Amino acid sequence: MAAALDELRTRLAEVSDLSRAAGVLGWDQRVTMPPRGTESRAEQLSTIGRIAHERFTDDEIGRLLDAAEPEVESLPYDSDGRSLVRVTRRDWEKARRVPSELRAEMTLQAARGHHAWVEARRTSDFASFLPYLRTNVELKRRYVECFEWSDSPYTPLLDDYEPGMVTSEVQEVFATLRPALTELVAAAPEVDASFLSGDFAPEAQRAFAERILATMGFEEGSWRLDPTAHPFCTSFSNRDVRLTTRYQPDDLESIWSTLHEAGHGLYAHGIADSLLRSPLGAAPSLGVNESQSRTWENLVGRSRSFWEHWYEPLQETFPRLRDVDLDRFVRAINRAEPGLIRVDADETTYSLHIILRFELEQEIVEGTVALEDLPEIWSARMREFLGIDVPDDARGVLQDVHWSGGGIGYFPTYALGNVISLQIWDVVRQALPDLDAQLEAGDLEPLSGWLRDNLYSLGRKLTPKETIERLTGSPTIDPAPYLAYLGDKVASLESRSPSGIRQEPSATA
Ligand code: ZN
Repeated sequence: MAAALDELRTRLAEVSDLSRAAGVLGWDQRVTMPPRGTESRAEQLSTIGRIAHERFTDDEIGRLLDAAEPEVESLPYDSDGRSLVRVTRRDWEKARRVPSELRAEMTLQAARGHHAWVEARRTSDFASFLPYLRTNVELKRRYVECFEWSDSPYTPLLDDYEPGMVTSEVQEVFATLRPALTELVAAAPEVDASFLSGDFAPEAQRAFAERILATMGFEEGSWRLDPTAHPFCTSFSNRDVRLTTRYQPDDLESIWSTLHEAGHGLYAHGIADSLLRSPLGAAPSLGVNESQSRTWENLVGRSRSFWEHWYEPLQETFPRLRDVDLDRFVRAINRAEPGLIRVDADETTYSLHIILRFELEQEIVEGTVALEDLPEIWSARMREFLGIDVPDDARGVLQDVHWSGGGIGYFPTYALGNVISLQIWDVVRQALPDLDAQLEAGDLEPLSGWLRDNLYSLGRKLTPKETIERLTGSPTIDPAPYLAYLGDKVASLESRSPSGIRQEPSATA
């Protein structure tokens, strides 16, 4: 008899249904809703969110957890039942620590902050955003006070996105990354990528992206792809995956943006059926989830093997590429070039943008930086990290949406995703010795099948560290494979460089 566990499952399924329904409203808001629907949509989302939160934090869930514990204690640690009780208890206890008035205030001020940020970024006016930022940061400090931490008040914020990770662990990883990346960026040769700008019909881009997607291992009838301004991926079950992308008429970035979201989509698609409608039906953390979007975007989508198969179809789709050989194309899509904007950054410079934000976020939360000084500090660090000058706040401190809604603690997960992607990739390479030949043949299913069986299907049963340990044999986040990969990449740019032109070192180590 597992009466309590069954009752717990039923209640959690209801909460999951509510939050997936909110997800549908959110997807619609970003993909199809006419702009004037904003206000009523915000009310609908807030109502569903409140009901889901109340149902989840209810005393009865705690009682059922207590009663279910003896029912599952003899099951294996990673069984669905025991994992459900363990993970739900952690979520439940965490959610109950935050008073509902504080939660409501954070939601309200996040919406106001977002609104102010949109306008401030448009006019590049940090001063007009400052009061909203101040309010949101103050609320975050109150939120942090609901928890205990040992190393930094930043840890409870990080824990929202990367459960179980503490600030000092991220500091350690980034302390290795930062000087090594700065050195790599300075060593990267200039690479001609002029042929990647020009006239690329969006309709043809869409058709090409869908051709690739059809080979990635999604079951037919379980996904769709729609255009949007800021690409994202969401899912309402493992058989209803919503990918979005953006087609710009003057470049091919949609290919990698689509592969990125498809990586998130394959994760959602691979979650085991038995975990649906429960807190376990998702990736264990943003970092682990991001490791897979990066895998498909970069490790697959910028590899020579992948393009051995896909470059001819691309040239047929866009005849203007006929004069560009595969070598030049692969070099161009792997180039490293410091830039102002995080979302446009290449693989090599990307994590430096993140480390800059991570350092600032800690200082903001710890109160060691005055918020009005942020634009100035931002500019100084961009010069220090990437050797470039920031012309205005819109392309500086105001460029990202995250802080506008109080989303502090999110940024490091992007760089952790890069690091984790290579740790897992090393294991994949050992498990699939013919991977290169498969990619060259356009056969992506062995890779997606392996990742589904060994990673995606686990959902949130294990913590991020346990998940990484299950795959790699160690729970440590180790930047070495990532740095080795980037080192090889930069070296390959150098040796094949046709121009032989060395870029002046643009940043100091
Ligand atoms: Zn992503």
